[in-house]
Amino acid sequence: MRKKLLEVKRLKKHFRIGGKTYLKATDDVSFEIYQGETLGLVGESGCGKSTTGRTIIGLYQPSEGEVVFDGTNVHTAKGKQKQELTKRMQMIFQDPYASLNPRMTVGEIIAEGLYLNSMGSAKERYEKVIELLETVGLRREHAERFPHEFSGGQRQRIGIARALAVEPEFIIADEPISALDVSVQAQVVNLMKKLQREKQLTYLFIAHDLAMVKHISDRIGVMYLGNLVELTSSEQLYANPKHPYTQALLSAIPVPDPDVEHTRERIILEGEVPSPMNPPSGCVFRTRCPAAMQKCAEEVPIWQEIESNHYTACHLYKQ
Ligand code: SF4
Repeated sequence: MRKKLLEVKRLKKHFRIGGKTYLKATDDVSFEIYQGETLGLVGESGCGKSTTGRTIIGLYQPSEGEVVFDGTNVHTAKGKQKQELTKRMQMIFQDPYASLNPRMTVGEIIAEGLYLNSMGSAKERYEKVIELLETVGLRREHAERFPHEFSGGQRQRIGIARALAVEPEFIIADEPISALDVSVQAQVVNLMKKLQREKQLTYLFIAHDLAMVKHISDRIGVMYLGNLVELTSSEQLYANPKHPYTQALLSAIPVPDPDVEHTRERIILEGEVPSPMNPPSGCVFRTRCPAAMQKCAEEVPIWQEIESNHYTACHLYKQ
């Protein structure tokens, strides 16, 4: 039985916008991540996936619900426990340039976490930086350079080295390849997979389309307007998507075989994603769902396991 490393329980993160208006960025999301796996979290921009990631790691306080990492509540941990968590959980960001201090050398950036956590002497920290640069495919002389001297792919490697410095067990990668050229995306994904094998890492890999998470995720969760709408293994999600939103997302991904591609039916979603300040009643996807019925406006579909390890929230499935 695999160990549950992270438990997200009915997590909500609402932001107050003026008087009594709330932006429901994350609205009642629950899932677990097992040690050593990669959970992909996917959805269009504004669906709440990044807010969910940032709340999980403690950058935001939740409005409701809790996040438990290896038995410790992330948001109530204090003192030594909290310091332990900041080492065990790390984050990689979408825009490696914006997240790297332009006035620090790459060596200083990578060593910062070691310094803040009083890990090692100055010499040991320097040796660790060199080891990390080589681990992520960079060279020792890069330690003396500044972030602007690197390409986007190299900067993301620096971001990965910085995250690895404190020897975390769990990494949240928030759209780590979205800003990179397609040719570089695969290199960064392959590096992350290699590091996962070597260091037994667990990932939450956030992306805005299903094609990006396919090659790295063991399981995939799909989010829409602050809600998790489907969660299952990668194979199952691609072979047998249940939720109409997942079906639409998958139909938009081209397949390499021109004969198959020619016969595929593309599901075009009508309309725009509604505002998270005023989400639709009932099922939040109902204003764009090709299968919507009366009940969808009246009742919130419950999150349920409809097949073994396959969860969704949709009235098309028996409740
Ligand atoms: Fe579509 Fe209704 Fe299912 Fe929502 S609950 S996805 S509107 S069928």
